[in-house]
Amino acid sequence: MEIFKTIAEIRECLADVRKSGHSIGFVPTMGALHNGHLSLVKASGKDNRVTVASIFVNPVQFNDSEDFRRYPRDIGSDTHMLESAACDVLFCPGEKEIYPEPPTELVDLGGLDSIMEGKYRPGHFNGVVTIVKRLLEIIEPNRAYFGLKDYQQLVIIHHIVTRLNLPVEIIPCPIVREKDGLAMSSRNRLLSRQERAAATFIYKALRNVKAQAGYIPIPEIAENVEYLIRSSKYLKLEYFEIVDMYSLRPVRFWTESRNLIACIAVYAGDVRLIDNVILFS
Ligand code: AMP
Repeated sequence: MEIFKTIAEIRECLADVRKSGHSIGFVPTMGALHNGHLSLVKASGKDNRVTVASIFVNPVQFNDSEDFRRYPRDIGSDTHMLESAACDVLFCPGEKEIYPEPPTELVDLGGLDSIMEGKYRPGHFNGVVTIVKRLLEIIEPNRAYFGLKDYQQLVIIHHIVTRLNLPVEIIPCPIVREKDGLAMSSRNRLLSRQERAAATFIYKALRNVKAQAGYIPIPEIAENVEYLIRSSKYLKLEYFEIVDMYSLRPVRFWTESRNLIACIAVYAGDVRLIDNVILFS
């Protein structure tokens, strides 16, 4: 695997790939990699001749400086994992390389950021879109791979790519879970033993929702979720929403849409975890 820290170097390498007519797949990450990230790298490896991963803990998408400070970083293990997944190129720039000047851009997200993550993390998606656009301009991939784990992010990136006519295909990839159902996340390694055990309630709640979808009124389903999460003293529910998969509009009646997804954000101690499940699939 080749590793580059500067834009000039990686662009020179990828220009040669492009000249040879080979396709480039891109997997942007913030590092502290796990098998969820590697599933994206492997999906890219199947579709493309060259797979590029990036590791950049993007300061402008953190609305909480403490969360940014303690976000896990482990470049040694990340490099090994990427090599094991047959990643060809790693781009791991420093902050000055990506943001020589602090970014000031405000992006119109078409209201898709007004609920859920956007509501509780003001400015988060503006920061996400800023970095994703910048990385897509640097790498110019044919395809870019994103996890369904960050569902709202995926919808917003899709929206921006379509609106700006960016020449890249966005490929969604399924959520990879631990054996007990907890969605893999870099933040899981910040959990204490008790918080980690309690965190299994998150997917359990979502599985119940999927089993009850269409049968039990939505407000009652939301109450059941709240009740289950509240039953652990280590957990605190931030939001639970059932939304239309495309517009992200919250629904109150099952008849409003057949394309629904249940999304949840929960604090386990002071670690914020998100998860979701697609209903009726
Ligand atoms: P992050 O490093 O958290 O910014 O994530 C980088 C990419 O990996 C994003 O597209 C995430 O949606 C994806 N990802 C993170 N966790 C998982 C998971 N458990 N399963 C699938 N994809 C994931």
